[in-house]
Amino acid sequence: MDCVFCKISNKEIPADIVAEDREFLVFKDINPKAPVHLIIIPKTHFGPVSALGSDNENLLGGLILKAKDVASTVGVSENGYRLIFNVGRDAGMEIDHLHLHLLAGKPLKF
Ligand code: AMP
Repeated sequence: MDCVFCKISNKEIPADIVAEDREFLVFKDINPKAPVHLIIIPKTHFGPVSALGSDNENLLGGLILKAKDVASTVGVSENGYRLIFNVGRDAGMEIDHLHLHLLAGKPLKF
């Protein structure tokens, strides 16, 4: 499958990896929109939120809790952070491998 995030997960292309465990990988966004901009992915390919169902509750919960842990690790928990799922064209979704954005490091405007 020609998926950039699968290639990062498989270490076929480089990324600035911040955290990794058996299930998830966290790396810096290549085009950051905030001083801290991380991408949290499941290592296995899943489609976006719109493609998921009740079978994926644990996956989605685990992804969000991983983001919370990483926020603590990189030191942004106290000041706060934003978690974003882009879903579909109007949200500007570019990559259809499930991923969560973590943005932090300054007051974020909508
Ligand atoms: P989305 O719009 O939610 O699909 O976001 C995809 C994000 O992945 C964008 O913020 C891109 O800057 C980021 N991105 C794309 N390719 C890479 C890459 N090779 N390494 C790190 N981040 C990437």
